[in-house]
Amino acid sequence: MKETVAQRVERIKREKDPFSILPDILRYAETGFDSIPDEDLNVRFRAWGLYTQGDGQGVRGKAVPRFMMRIRIPGGQLFAHQLHTIADLADRYGQGVADVTDRQNIQLHHIRIEDVPDIFAALHRVGLTTMGACGDNTRNITSCPLAGVDATEICDASPLVQAANRLLNGNPAYSNLPRKFKVTITGCRHWCTYPEINDVGLVAREREVGGRREVGFDLLVGGGLATAPHLAVRIPAFVRWHEAVRVVEAIAAIFRDSDVLRQRRDKARLKFLFLEYGWDAERMLAEIEARLGYPLEPPLPPLTPPEVHRDHVGIHPQRQPGMVYVGLATTTGRVTPAQLRAVADLAAEYGDGQIRLTPTQNIVILNVPSHRAAAVAERAAALGLPADASPFRRCTVSCTGAQFCKLAIVETKEFGAWLVAEMERRLPGFGEQVKLHVTGCPNSCGQHWIADIGLLGVKVKDGAQQVDGFEIFVGGGLGADPGFGRRTGLRVPAHRVPEALERILRRAQAERRPGESLKDVLRRTSDDALRTWVSSEPSTAD
Ligand code: SF4
Repeated sequence: MKETVAQRVERIKREKDPFSILPDILRYAETGFDSIPDEDLNVRFRAWGLYTQGDGQGVRGKAVPRFMMRIRIPGGQLFAHQLHTIADLADRYGQGVADVTDRQNIQLHHIRIEDVPDIFAALHRVGLTTMGACGDNTRNITSCPLAGVDATEICDASPLVQAANRLLNGNPAYSNLPRKFKVTITGCRHWCTYPEINDVGLVAREREVGGRREVGFDLLVGGGLATAPHLAVRIPAFVRWHEAVRVVEAIAAIFRDSDVLRQRRDKARLKFLFLEYGWDAERMLAEIEARLGYPLEPPLPPLTPPEVHRDHVGIHPQRQPGMVYVGLATTTGRVTPAQLRAVADLAAEYGDGQIRLTPTQNIVILNVPSHRAAAVAERAAALGLPADASPFRRCTVSCTGAQFCKLAIVETKEFGAWLVAEMERRLPGFGEQVKLHVTGCPNSCGQHWIADIGLLGVKVKDGAQQVDGFEIFVGGGLGADPGFGRRTGLRVPAHRVPEALERILRRAQAERRPGESLKDVLRRTSDDALRTWVSSEPSTAD
């Protein structure tokens, strides 16, 4: 009988540990792209952050086949010299393109196999790696971009992020999970790394024990998006600080050993234990405790933050008196080497060289004396990275899309940049934050399910032609009133999206009742009404 896709991938991973193929990758750099066996090229390479490029340049027979390369950056934490290195690599080997991702990674593109050894060596010299950035393993562990400087944080969870990263990434015990495994550990009160849509979310809590303050974590398990979005389930336990990494490891082991999940690639995420196999919070807790060998402590009362648009853009005070952080808006994460170099220089010159990447694809410079912040902002704005950015520029997120992703239905990055510029032109001075998320296929890397307005790439008819278009989702959001965006059935050719969004936003503002957010208005507006808004209101900008 012919192997299924899942059986094939499982066999390939079993036959040779994907993390073990580094010597092979270095050899292929000598022997050339065509010497790479399919089983390495299309499965094991991913464990080293390498995907063949989706623009037609990643296939055999091309004169110079190309890869996308993802650099893993735990917690999005970088130092200036590291960012300089990434900028140099993007310049020398990546045709001047880099993308900040919504998991706090940086992706390079146009990479040739011949250049991979140099790139790996350069990354290694500054303590960075691509290992575990893609593939069936623990992906980049995310954390609050303001860890250690946020004035209201409960704790700086960075040591746990680094410890969990060291334990799980590259560890042969966890190198063959059923599929990707996404973890976030955050010490902040705002959940800006979206624990609700991670496989494991540890969010800081505090309690009094014997008159002493103790910091620990609430535990959320089984969140995820793609075609079957699922909010993580709150596990009834208080995870003490010293238990956090072991709990993440226990859940990774549960996931690894869930053979039932290995039968279909599209159902191989932890959330399907809850969605299809009858697991609930109590069952997950029992399994975790069985792995740990002792019971966890009882949970604190639930505490979910209100949904705030926390994109970290702008100049804001830190917990350290007299210091601020300066958050710079990229446009959908796409950056140039010149911009990255300049950010690194600004961080070194005005701060202490610390830089953070955010889940909204923006960049933060830490530890700037408040009297110098305006100079940082001015110089960054001149580079196209404003700290004072429109809601559209700061809150629009986009996945990789057809330019580099093989699974994409439509192009997203250039569209996203154009959409931002168009919305700024159509709605100058728009005073409200609006989360716009653009995603190129149902895999939802651009997280359209959790946006005020989500755009999912589809092909649509425009006259007699099939063109790139987007289906509009509305009312998604997390926090205290969570819900996935509603598929409206409104499908719009890409070139008409700004006009449609302008009409929706104008009308939503006009229809708003006291105390309502944009999301509230969109949630209570029917698809038919939205359709009428889009089709009947005159646009001012056309
Ligand atoms: Fe590619 Fe689809 Fe993910 Fe976008 S959502 S990066 S198109 S797989």
